[in-house]
Amino acid sequence: MGYVVPPPAVISLPIRGSEKRFPVRRIYCVGRNYAAHAVEMGHDPDREPPFFFQKNPDNLVQDGRFPYPRRSRDVHHEIELVVALGEGGSDIAPEHALGHVFGYAVGIDMTRRDLQGEAKQAGRPWEVGKAFEHSALCGELVPARAIGHPERGAIWLDVNGERRQEGDLDQLIWKVPEVIAELSRLFALAPGDLIMTGTPAGVGAVVRGDVMRGGVAGIGEITFEVV
Ligand code: MN
Repeated sequence: MGYVVPPPAVISLPIRGSEKRFPVRRIYCVGRNYAAHAVEMGHDPDREPPFFFQKNPDNLVQDGRFPYPRRSRDVHHEIELVVALGEGGSDIAPEHALGHVFGYAVGIDMTRRDLQGEAKQAGRPWEVGKAFEHSALCGELVPARAIGHPERGAIWLDVNGERRQEGDLDQLIWKVPEVIAELSRLFALAPGDLIMTGTPAGVGAVVRGDVMRGGVAGIGEITFEVV
């Protein structure tokens, strides 16, 4: 049996210390998961809990270059802790959730803020602002068996050597186990799913030529040039 068009390639991430790669099934993202970022976007974190949206697996970029997207004049960086699931499930209890984690990575949720803003105002979906080509920047995965499950530690992003975003994993409103538990009540999670867990305060625009360098303590750093 053949296919009538070429089947899409398996999207995958490299794994530190391994020849094998991590195949990516879905990319879930958490919105407004740090109070200071919710406030900078004009929301009250005490009244509006975090929520989910998605990107597409083939939006992932790993090569250190972020092509500035079409149809936008206001493209923002959002540095995030990325969780990779090695096991799936539905209705996962928070106390069992970390057992489903394969590992962690540093990622940047690139956002066409102008198009996202128009969508928000019109009550429309966010895909045009969030799920565009090359919008999911991600470094190598680090297995949890090597580093454990980070609960605190700096998360930061510099643009051209200047600090733009700074926070700590202990500021997450929904911690990683709660994110997994919440998601698993809404979707059937599976091995290969990635979760971008939200961004701390300090999001801002980039232009071509900018160099974004970001990291999460205990996981690593990534560098991307805007081209
Ligand atoms: Mn984000």
